[in-house]
Amino acid sequence: MIGLLCRNETCRYEAINLCKQFFPGHSVSQTESGDFQVEVSIPYQNEQEVATRVIVCSEKGCFEGNASAPRSEYLGAPDLDVAMGKAFYQAALPCTGYSPPWGILTGIRPVKLFKGLIGEVGLEETQRLFREEFYVSADKTQLCTQVALCELRELSPVEPQDCSLYISIPICPTRCAYCSFVSQENNKVGHKLIDEYLNLLCREIELTGEIIRSLGQRLKTVYIGGGTPAVLSPVQIKKLLASISPLAEGLEEYTFEAGRPDVIDREKLEVLKEYDVSRISINPQTLDDRVLESIGRRHTTAQFYQAFELASAMGFENINTDLIAGLPGDTTEGFCKTMDRILELKPSGITVHSFYKKRSSALAQTGQADEWITAKEAGGVSYAYDALRMNGYEPYYLYRQKDTVGGSENIGWGRNHQIGFYNIYMMNELHSVYACGAGGVTRLIRPDGKIQRIYNFKLPLEYIKGFSQMEERKRGVNEFYGG
Ligand code: SF4
Repeated sequence: MIGLLCRNETCRYEAINLCKQFFPGHSVSQTESGDFQVEVSIPYQNEQEVATRVIVCSEKGCFEGNASAPRSEYLGAPDLDVAMGKAFYQAALPCTGYSPPWGILTGIRPVKLFKGLIGEVGLEETQRLFREEFYVSADKTQLCTQVALCELRELSPVEPQDCSLYISIPICPTRCAYCSFVSQENNKVGHKLIDEYLNLLCREIELTGEIIRSLGQRLKTVYIGGGTPAVLSPVQIKKLLASISPLAEGLEEYTFEAGRPDVIDREKLEVLKEYDVSRISINPQTLDDRVLESIGRRHTTAQFYQAFELASAMGFENINTDLIAGLPGDTTEGFCKTMDRILELKPSGITVHSFYKKRSSALAQTGQADEWITAKEAGGVSYAYDALRMNGYEPYYLYRQKDTVGGSENIGWGRNHQIGFYNIYMMNELHSVYACGAGGVTRLIRPDGKIQRIYNFKLPLEYIKGFSQMEERKRGVNEFYGG
């Protein structure tokens, strides 16, 4: 455990983030005791600069770090965060000997920062700043470089009328032990409620379409995610896609995240074909049945192969597959083997997630996840990245989460220019994303850079009960755009 003492309230949020980054697997408690004691303070701040001091004590002794940064933003990041990160680095490194792969950067979108800096100081200087000012490892700096260059090459210029649509199906066949997402099991939700949810979801899609048209906007991508959208019956999927149809003309990308292979069948895939879905995702997470069982993901490797082969035979050319590195019960060798087997299938996309401890998951609550989070390296991640590059895949989007194994990230890899555009637009906040369904968050972005979020109710039942209230919130969109 880490005992954290913040002398100034403004330090607290970032100090907790830095503790998690520099001491993976340890919980943070705001007390004066623990295996490590961390004290953070701001000795002075004026109009020119802010200074920070960090003291880290352990059985090895006490170490002090001091750093300052010019006021306002410093190199595209908040000044206080940079100063604190540097002081933290000086004090924590002698205590643990551990240098986090992402250095002092704790945000979820390092590539956004990287791209902003390229525009200001050029690529080479940006790489130097990442390594020398933010202490990001050479490997992660290279990853950022590849992702940024891929995005700059693949994306057409953003037009003010562009937008995307996200549809949420927060329902799954069963609940995986590592999941803390709001998704509910379909038999607990019940058929009647799913039908009711779907009816209202279609109404929200219709309303969103009216808003988009009234603002003269144009949908570039649609993403149906979850949960497990393929848990719906063919009739339900047809109803959903039919409600999107009036908006779907000329889309750049239309994704259906089918998700779990155990609920994918020919009839459902035929409906997706009928409505010109261009990209699907079939997610095994691992190709080791023992690991699938230990993480409570109730499908088998054989079911993944069946679903993948069926979709390929039916002419789906853009199939993404999700994997998770560092799963409890998996080994480095096991993950490398999964990667080799997935590469043999040559899917157009492979998304490599790093396992992270989701607080409300069954695994976290039993404490089983902790031992994995303390690992200094997510098993097999570097092997996977090398193998992906050798097989012609390129990283096109990257985001980070807290408490991942080895401090690693999540990356979407694509080949032959088959990348997930929706993910890039959403992650980089390049245009407005309208979200429909329970748990959806609409993120409106105005040409002047102003952002506003509209939150939907989280669970299907809350969504149904609060629908008229939510409809009202959504009608506020025109106001945001000055209509
Ligand atoms: S399939 Fe995904 S969303 Fe559904 S329970 Fe498993 S991890 Fe959670």
